[in-house]
Amino acid sequence: MQDIPYQGDGRVFDSLRAVRLRPTSARICILQVLTGTQRQAMNAESIYQQLLHIGIAVSLGTIYRVLKEMEQAGLLLREREASASGNKARYLIKPERVAADSCYLVCRVCERSVLVQDAPLVEQLRQAAAVHGMEIGANVLSVQMRCSQCAEDAQAGRGRALRAG
Ligand SMILES: [Zn+2]
Repeated sequence: MQDIPYQGDGRVFDSLRAVRLRPTSARICILQVLTGTQRQAMNAESIYQQLLHIGIAVSLGTIYRVLKEMEQAGLLLREREASASGNKARYLIKPERVAADSCYLVCRVCERSVLVQDAPLVEQLRQAAAVHGMEIGANVLSVQMRCSQCAEDAQAGRGRALRAG
């Protein structure tokens, strides 16, 4: 792959280093695209298009692989977008100051996540965990639940089934 045309953003290197991923050009390019989206999630195809647009050819396969790596390393969040062609994964950069007073509410159906900053809530969860010999450690808490959209879908599905029967 060719040299990266812009290298000004030291934060990209720092965040890769922080999770012990080697700053390869593919990882840097993809992170830079995601950094530029102001917390909008993007799917692999859009990242591919955007990179092509600025003259960087990275194969779609590489993009999928790198996104997965960075998600596993805790650098990215994944959510699912419903589209005509089925569910697609979308990625966004984990907010940097995901402080000790925040937790994610995650829909277990569509995996959409919402960041909630609520220090007393997180502290209570921490204490409840400690009582049971568990600790949150350096991880950001995530609590699984179901989003209203998925709840509606489920109810609509059940309603239809009842009427049909
Ligand atoms: Zn959902």
